[in-house]
Amino acid sequence: MALRTLQQEYDVMVVGGGNAALSAALSAREHGARVLIVERAPKFYRGGNSRHTRDFRIMHERANDYMMGTYAEDEFVDDLARVAGGEMNQHLARIIVSKSAELPEWLSNQGIRWQAPLSGTLHLARTNMFMLGGGRAMMNAYYQTAKENGVDVWYDSFVEDLVIDADEFKAARVRRGEDLLTVRALSVVLASGGFEANVDWLKRYWGPAADNFVIRGTPYNQGNMIETMLRYGAESIGEPDAFHAVAVDGRAPRFDGGIVTRLDSVPFGIVVNQDGFRFYDEGEDFWPKRYAIWGGLIARQPEQVAYSIIDSKAMGKFMPSVFDPVVADTLADLADKLGLDPAQVIETVETFNCAVRAGTFNPGELDDCHTEGLIPPKSHWAVPINTAPFYAYPLRTGITFTYLGVRVSERAKIQLKDGREAANMFAAGEMAAGNVLRRGYLAGFGLTMGAVLGRIAGEEAANVTR
Ligand SMILES: Cc1cc2nc3c(=O)[nH]c(=O)nc-3n(C[C@H](O)[C@H](O)[C@H](O)COP(=O)(O)OP(=O)(O)OC[C@H]3O[C@@H](n4cnc5c(N)ncnc54)[C@H](O)[C@@H]3O)c2cc1C
Repeated sequence: MALRTLQQEYDVMVVGGGNAALSAALSAREHGARVLIVERAPKFYRGGNSRHTRDFRIMHERANDYMMGTYAEDEFVDDLARVAGGEMNQHLARIIVSKSAELPEWLSNQGIRWQAPLSGTLHLARTNMFMLGGGRAMMNAYYQTAKENGVDVWYDSFVEDLVIDADEFKAARVRRGEDLLTVRALSVVLASGGFEANVDWLKRYWGPAADNFVIRGTPYNQGNMIETMLRYGAESIGEPDAFHAVAVDGRAPRFDGGIVTRLDSVPFGIVVNQDGFRFYDEGEDFWPKRYAIWGGLIARQPEQVAYSIIDSKAMGKFMPSVFDPVVADTLADLADKLGLDPAQVIETVETFNCAVRAGTFNPGELDDCHTEGLIPPKSHWAVPINTAPFYAYPLRTGITFTYLGVRVSERAKIQLKDGREAANMFAAGEMAAGNVLRRGYLAGFGLTMGAVLGRIAGEEAANVTR
């Protein structure tokens, strides 16, 4: 291995290669800076979790070809406040919401194209704007524009550590192939995501259960830049043990399965744990408002597994899974195939069926099909599970991202524990998500926050001069 120091070549170094990083890099370039992007992943896997995404949440006062109706600033801020999960930086939240209105034009200028929402996209047609071709096409457009604009990109390059003197960034230590390089720049934007792929870190809060979690996105988000900044005195933000997690098919790959492994069958049947017992109201609210709690619910079950059980009446009513369901003509056979105790599963289903009060089934509203005298209840869409064949999907906890990060100012500057601001260090994207979101989530907000704060960080970083 060779240890080399490169002479200062760049004004702005951007650590990371997803939506926040590319927004920062392109914005810094627009403001005249010489920019280097250092992306840990190889070229094919560039783009972190951003390459799995589909949509931005956008404030807008007029309908357009890609979003129905209007979505006012106050409504957006209220929606955020409802889900944020504790105290949020109100001022920063409002800046992000208001500046989201600029994103369609700015992102289009970066080559990103849009499409009208398809059915099955969690009822987001009014509030969210969908990228044509999804996250990977978006990342390809970003990188193409970066190339055309003269931004340098290093793939397969891992920022291991930073050289920081007092509150000032001096250089980054970058592992690139056989080399360990010291790369200097006038300023740095950290946009290297959360620590959701670092199972050892997750174990600090979840113990051995973390071994059973599925990581929906990139394996490269190990959180070492968060750890580095906290070591250098940055103020942390966000709940360390909080993550956004959904129910994914239990057969999903350990990493990088993306959107298609999510399972949406829960409201149409019941969910039992490994012991054959129900543990939560499957019909508590509309699925788009509830899907994100199921990852955490399953994480608290034995062996972190659960099973969504439905009958033939439910088939075709939810987005089909990429995996085939387990199917059987009797509940006993279904339980057997799942490795569950058939007697217990039959009892759970029969108890549920007896508690169902018939109503008018309507998945489009909070209908009156509910249970009575059952704990936990099923508040809506409760229909007896009695029509063969019976189907089941195994479920696991699929982590989307973690919330712990570094505190930033409204100009994306990293804040230090002693009350000072870092001189020339900025953060954007998931690394700064905790500034607005402490626990909850609003679909499409991850990209919006990353792009708005990334643009601000890029501009500010470009303005740093010695
Ligand atoms: C399946 C899935 C679907 C999603 N769908 C949506 C959606 O439709 N809309 C939405 O708003 N959000 C969605 N999200 C959340 C969204 O992905 C994130 O909020 C957003 O992409 C975060 O962007 P980012 O730039 O901060 O991080 P990322 O896009 O994850 O990028 C982090 C980058 O940092 C790099 N990196 C990490 N450590 C280092 C290091 N030490 N040195 C160099 N590089 C490093 C990684 O390789 C990666 O490229 C989804 C997430 C998942 C997993």
